[in-house]
Amino acid sequence: MNFSLDTKNELARLIPSRPCCRRAELSALIRMAGVLHLGRRGPGLTVAVENAAVARLILILLRLTCDQDAEVVIRRRRRLRKNNVYTVELPPEARVFDLLRFLGILNARDGLLATVPPDLKRCCRKAYLRGAFLARGSITDPERGYHLELAADTLELLASLQDLLARSDVACHCSERKGEPVLYCKEADQIARFLGLIGASAAVLAFENVRVRRDVRNRVNRLVNAEAANLEKIAGAAAMQLEDIELIRSRLGFRHLPRSLREVAEARMAHPEASLRELGELLSPPVSKSGVSYRMGRLAELAARLRSESYAKQGRNHGEGKQI
Ligand SMILES: [Zn+2]
Repeated sequence: MNFSLDTKNELARLIPSRPCCRRAELSALIRMAGVLHLGRRGPGLTVAVENAAVARLILILLRLTCDQDAEVVIRRRRRLRKNNVYTVELPPEARVFDLLRFLGILNARDGLLATVPPDLKRCCRKAYLRGAFLARGSITDPERGYHLELAADTLELLASLQDLLARSDVACHCSERKGEPVLYCKEADQIARFLGLIGASAAVLAFENVRVRRDVRNRVNRLVNAEAANLEKIAGAAAMQLEDIELIRSRLGFRHLPRSLREVAEARMAHPEASLRELGELLSPPVSKSGVSYRMGRLAELAARLRSESYAKQGRNHGEGKQI
């Protein structure tokens, strides 16, 4: 599954119903992926995309908005096993400058507009963003992570797209990667909103499904990890308690212990893995967790005293210590 490709295939089937929105979408497609060739035989225009459905959409929009014919040339990229490139080429007789002016890509003095057309109507925003995404956008499979990205030749163009997105309540960040300007978003909420905004309904559903599954999985993992850490803590504490109890038993024997301590010591020896709460429940009458904890503390103190006494004794035997 290729999430980006599936999303684009879905979007490329949508043709805006309003002429202004069609023009806006075509404008974005050509602005983002088009190349102007200035040859001796007059200007030429090519638009290269990596998706057959997007190339087809460009043909349809050219025909619907400007009554312009074009053809698609497929180039196979053998290196790195990349996708094919579909290049939409306008015929030599096409009035390229008229077309670019009509689309708001060139201004009246034939200067290239550095930003999104400033006179873009509100209804055309969606179509423009969809065109931009189809031309230079990509989206990571949500199973692998949340990442939406738009590339362009200049940071200025991306900044104006960022602005357009912000006006539609989608927050993105502009940055440069390996010298290439990119607009990106890593928040699942924002990506889902973007997909919804540009009309990718099936992609939104697929995205949200994966997101719910991932969230549940993450939550379960967190719980399991917390539980494992807790068990480890219990095991570590229990090992120390067993050591203390063993020491007391070998030095003093349980006979000399008060009943309350003896019961807890015996319960711990019989159930090395039990938590304090579980140990408390095993006693009769049952004792609360804090009660068990208090008794364990007293056993630990006793063991510590026995240890220090034995060190003192060893010290005396070796001719060391305070008495000399
Ligand atoms: Zn419109």
